[in-house]
Amino acid sequence: MAADESVTESAEAEAEAAPAVGDGSALYQGLCWDADGYFFWMAQRNTGQWSAAWPYLVPEGEKIPEYWEMMQALGIVHGSLRSALHVTMLATDEDREQFKQWSRLCLQIAREHAGALVRADHLAVPFWATIHDDSLKQAIGDEYAVARDVKVFANLEARLYARSYPGKREIHVSVLTREYLIKFNVLIWRYVWAVLEDRDNQALPELASAMLPHLLSLYLDANYSALPVNRSRDTAMFTRAHQTSTIQMRFIIAHEYAHIVLHGDSPNTPQEEAEADAFALGVVLRSEPAFPVEDVHTALSWLFGTLRLDAALGDALSGSSSNSRTAVIRRADVLSRLSAESIPAWDEAIESTGTAGLSLLNHQFSMLDWARVAAMRTQFLENFGLFEHL
Ligand SMILES: [Zn+2]
Repeated sequence: MAADESVTESAEAEAEAAPAVGDGSALYQGLCWDADGYFFWMAQRNTGQWSAAWPYLVPEGEKIPEYWEMMQALGIVHGSLRSALHVTMLATDEDREQFKQWSRLCLQIAREHAGALVRADHLAVPFWATIHDDSLKQAIGDEYAVARDVKVFANLEARLYARSYPGKREIHVSVLTREYLIKFNVLIWRYVWAVLEDRDNQALPELASAMLPHLLSLYLDANYSALPVNRSRDTAMFTRAHQTSTIQMRFIIAHEYAHIVLHGDSPNTPQEEAEADAFALGVVLRSEPAFPVEDVHTALSWLFGTLRLDAALGDALSGSSSNSRTAVIRRADVLSRLSAESIPAWDEAIESTGTAGLSLLNHQFSMLDWARVAAMRTQFLENFGLFEHL
């Protein structure tokens, strides 16, 4: 019971801690809905669609999941559902009260379903995955008939993750991948504004400390819904961060489509990875309705920067060095193709500020010594570790 409550308390503590910025007149600036996740399922949960969204039960005769597995699933489901409502820095007391009520409702729904989800092979996909899947089938289905047979599945892994299984024509994504990208993009957009508009010299340390718990949760078992809720400055900033994440997710899924339609079952060589990236870039640029090329440039540059940070932290935690150098080189190739397009100076400034921030953090993470990594790990587990809450 205590553990269950900790899932809500953390969310509420964060909402409570949100300072009331603004004068309260910005009525619709404090909260906004993000309909691309599980919003519709939540809205229609009384019609039975919700249970259709989570159709997998523990099969008869199978072992009942461990308590901690249930708690991990509970935190992830709770956090994923809750993220349909975004809180900004302009939230009033009333907005924050609404967010808390929403969080409680999401927890209640999550409790009803978490047990069944632990043993699930696949979940019904969140709305964003359907949107990208439909769009990709439309973009390449005529040229590559096999694309029409591809099925997208979702799982609950706390990773920036998508993987293709060409033999089965399946693509697996984590429901959390887009949620992580949105969190990171909100923080990067905040950093860019702090640098360009406020000339805030604390912007980088703030970006580092805000990103760190989320990055660590990709490697250490955490109570996902206890992680800080990242608020954008206002709803316009959330819209930008949402758009950045949409382009990144489209690219990630298109990359996996490329492996299925171009490569079949062979293990992916650096050459094939480069082909998949080039294919994905082409698809993203042809998307309907079209993404502005400057937004694509920003989104991909920040995506690669974020993935490098993820890899750098993984290396620091494991004490080894991964083989990510070739990935960095081939991705620079994707970006240089985009640089050939003409991009407005202001967008260039936004992109390069965010990219520079990510590079500086990457450098910091690469320089971490073992003692500092051990201290970070301990502190993270004290604050957000799953077992600390049992
Ligand atoms: Zn690949």
